[in-house]
Amino acid sequence: MSEQKRQETNAKTERLRVVTIDGPSGVGKSTVSRTVAAELGFTYLDTGAMYRAVAYACTKAGISADNVDQQDALALLLDKLDLRLLPPAQEEDDVRVLLGDKDISAAIRMPEMSMAASKVSAVPAVRARLTAMQQEMGLAGGLVADGRDTGTVVFPQAAWKFYLDASPEERCRRRVAQLRERGQEVDEQETLAQIIERDRNDQERTIAPLVMAEDAVLVDSSHLDINQVVARMLEIVSVT
Ligand code: C5P
Repeated sequence: MSEQKRQETNAKTERLRVVTIDGPSGVGKSTVSRTVAAELGFTYLDTGAMYRAVAYACTKAGISADNVDQQDALALLLDKLDLRLLPPAQEEDDVRVLLGDKDISAAIRMPEMSMAASKVSAVPAVRARLTAMQQEMGLAGGLVADGRDTGTVVFPQAAWKFYLDASPEERCRRRVAQLRERGQEVDEQETLAQIIERDRNDQERTIAPLVMAEDAVLVDSSHLDINQVVARMLEIVSVT
């Protein structure tokens, strides 16, 4: 085997059999990731659910991410964190999340938990704890991880990286349609403002900001449906 061929082979085998799908809020990452994982027979890791679970635990413990005086309480909470992700009850549902024995799957999806998760996720101790947990889950490979930093920080050596994007207006349109379908009344302007604020929080934080990994493939879903996005990703995974 030539030296060049040997180096190429080594580089490939050093890569983790992990697919990372990062991108802003409301871009359809979880549906896409769940479907890609099912097609590949991989496990789906919803890292956002983990940040939501920590936000929930903080809220219940009366800890505010903004309050530096509570850092000791936060450290203790993280130390004792008993968090488990389980497959969803039905295929199209979100993952189930247990905090201790309590099923918090529905609670963490409430709109107020989105903003709380965005805040708590900027705290270095929270990121350190969850990143370590995620890396442990990825050790065995066969994982599709979605989030904000899975291709840049959590799994920089992932074999396949994607950055899924769509304009804030398009993401707002989809979110409003989804909530209305569920019978919830929503204000479009408020929803757009929240999307833009979360984008800004995630992109401007100093630690693990939302940014596209240099070696990620950009997929703009503004004019693609879920099936088209999934097909594009699977095609790339199958040829590399
Ligand atoms: O993806 P999801 O909307 O459930 O994530 C909730 C929040 O958790 C995001 O707004 C983001 O601030 C944070 N998050 C993160 N890093 C990840 C996944 C989520 O900072 N890998």
